[in-house]
Amino acid sequence: MLTIARPFLDEMLDHLQACYPLEGCGLLAGDLDGLVTAVYPIDNILQSPTAYEMDPQQQVEAMLALEAAGWQMLAIYHSHPQGPPQPSATDIALAYYPEALHVVVSLREQNAPKVRAFQIMEQEVVEQKIKVTP
Ligand SMILES: [Zn+2]
Repeated sequence: MLTIARPFLDEMLDHLQACYPLEGCGLLAGDLDGLVTAVYPIDNILQSPTAYEMDPQQQVEAMLALEAAGWQMLAIYHSHPQGPPQPSATDIALAYYPEALHVVVSLREQNAPKVRAFQIMEQEVVEQKIKVTP
């Protein structure tokens, strides 16, 4: 389960809305209990409406910063501006960090984002509960 406080959820959604109609991406830091402790927006170097690749320099900096804070890379998030809230075949094939969850945000209805989280291990996709707290 992923537990995220409303301000962090809003921070992530604001970033993805700012990237719209392109895909946006970033990292969620958290503790061992799955509680989100920080949001790290990262540039999508592909600048595409249907694909993303995190800016490698920003990704490394974010990973070092969250490790220095004593946190884990809890999740990798990205948006599907026109797609469903589930990992694409490409997302599954490119899930390089099996210990991190994958948060997929569909903005097909732009004013009603759909947020879902998945564990992707060895091509197997298992949905995880998201708990939003105040
Ligand atoms: Zn995707």
